[in-house]
Amino acid sequence: MATVRIPTAAHEDLNPSRIAAHYFDHAADRLNLKQDLRELLWRPRRALTLSLPVKMDDGTLRIFQAYRVQHNSARGPCKGGIRYHPNVTYEEVEALASWMTWKCAVVNVPFGGAKGGIICDPKRMSKGELERLTRRYAYELGPLIGPDRDIPAPDVYTDAQTMAWFMDTCAMMFRHSAPGSVTGKPTYLGGSHGRKEATARGCLFVIREACRVLGMDLSKATVAIQGFGNAGSIAAQLLAAEGATIVAVCDSKGGVHNEKGLLTEELLEHKHRTGTVTEFPGARPIGCEQVLEVPCDILIPAALENQITGENAHRIRARIVAEAANGPTTPAAHAVLNEKQIMVLPDVLANAGGVTVSYFEWVQDLQELFWEEDDVNSRLERVMVRAFQDVYETAQAHNTDLRTGSYILGVNRVLEAIEARGIWP
Ligand code: NAD
Repeated sequence: MATVRIPTAAHEDLNPSRIAAHYFDHAADRLNLKQDLRELLWRPRRALTLSLPVKMDDGTLRIFQAYRVQHNSARGPCKGGIRYHPNVTYEEVEALASWMTWKCAVVNVPFGGAKGGIICDPKRMSKGELERLTRRYAYELGPLIGPDRDIPAPDVYTDAQTMAWFMDTCAMMFRHSAPGSVTGKPTYLGGSHGRKEATARGCLFVIREACRVLGMDLSKATVAIQGFGNAGSIAAQLLAAEGATIVAVCDSKGGVHNEKGLLTEELLEHKHRTGTVTEFPGARPIGCEQVLEVPCDILIPAALENQITGENAHRIRARIVAEAANGPTTPAAHAVLNEKQIMVLPDVLANAGGVTVSYFEWVQDLQELFWEEDDVNSRLERVMVRAFQDVYETAQAHNTDLRTGSYILGVNRVLEAIEARGIWP
């Protein structure tokens, strides 16, 4: 695979798959990987396109396009979330699946990478329609999923309820209970304590490590967050609990800013009540792009891909960018942030807390023995601190940034597994 050139801001390539390939190639160059191994590591092992017929509440029939990509299973069963969003594309799912492979390797959990997505607008669908869509998707994936094959989890606009339907469909198909076939389930169905908070908590642990390296005091830091769902809203709560000041947040409908700080609990209550953070009393309304540009110490993109681009990266004024979202920074933006010496905690490290506690959930399900929340959180902390150190040391050893360091670490660990297993037959 030829090395992808860094695109310029004016004609930036925003195809997530090519962006993922760009970052992969950059690490592969550093590892002097030969062409055949590059292809083996880069190409998805399996990619499925599905048409899912669903009876809608008004009696009509709608066919939804869906995907599941199993990128690599050298280190263990495939693992990755399911996204419900109108803008899902195959290229996005393919990129997200490869990021799962490197991410699981970076935090050293015994999983490969996968991702799923359905092109739909869950905000315009009833609970019944979403249930039928989820069950049909799980049914179509049937032969390829299960605790030893591929284990889905929540992602954008899917949640514990989606996972409960998915798990129940697996149990009906397999004709036995199947708690280990998905993670992110409700705790009373075999979910793990701390899973809902895990992505944000993992992000907090790596931010803490970054602050230590940079000599910053987290309790005095100001924070801006783009996206106020699972990752973003819980990050706001956890960082506020550390004493940090949340100055700006947004969701898909818009954002709010107050340089003196937004009251996090009240903001969460407002979001819960009104469905959006906009019109939060005592704050200035701002657009979602502006949230990225407010002066702050820590910026957390926690929404979708390609938010920080070559066009806006030079206006970012944070000292740390912690990528709670997957793929929020384009290669052109990555280059600008590096030049500005902003420390970027890359997605495959910064949001790996989610898959780490998913791994804990799977372990608990297989053992049928469940851990206290403190136990989950302290294990998560150990994994995230170790992953930060491994990435930091790899980056130092290769005289490079943390994103390239994390790819070198992750790709190398997958390569090691492939080489030890050999090629079958
Ligand atoms: P979510 O559905 O809970 O929340 C998504 C949030 O993004 C919502 O607040 C939504 O309003 C906002 N949003 C959507 N479109 C937007 C736009 N155009 N501009 C600004 N905000 C927008 O999803 P989540 O689980 O919090 O996922 C967010 C990101 O974190 C995704 O990139 C996801 O892949 C990543 N992630 C999530 C997990 C997890 O465990 N949930 C784990 C790892 C990575």
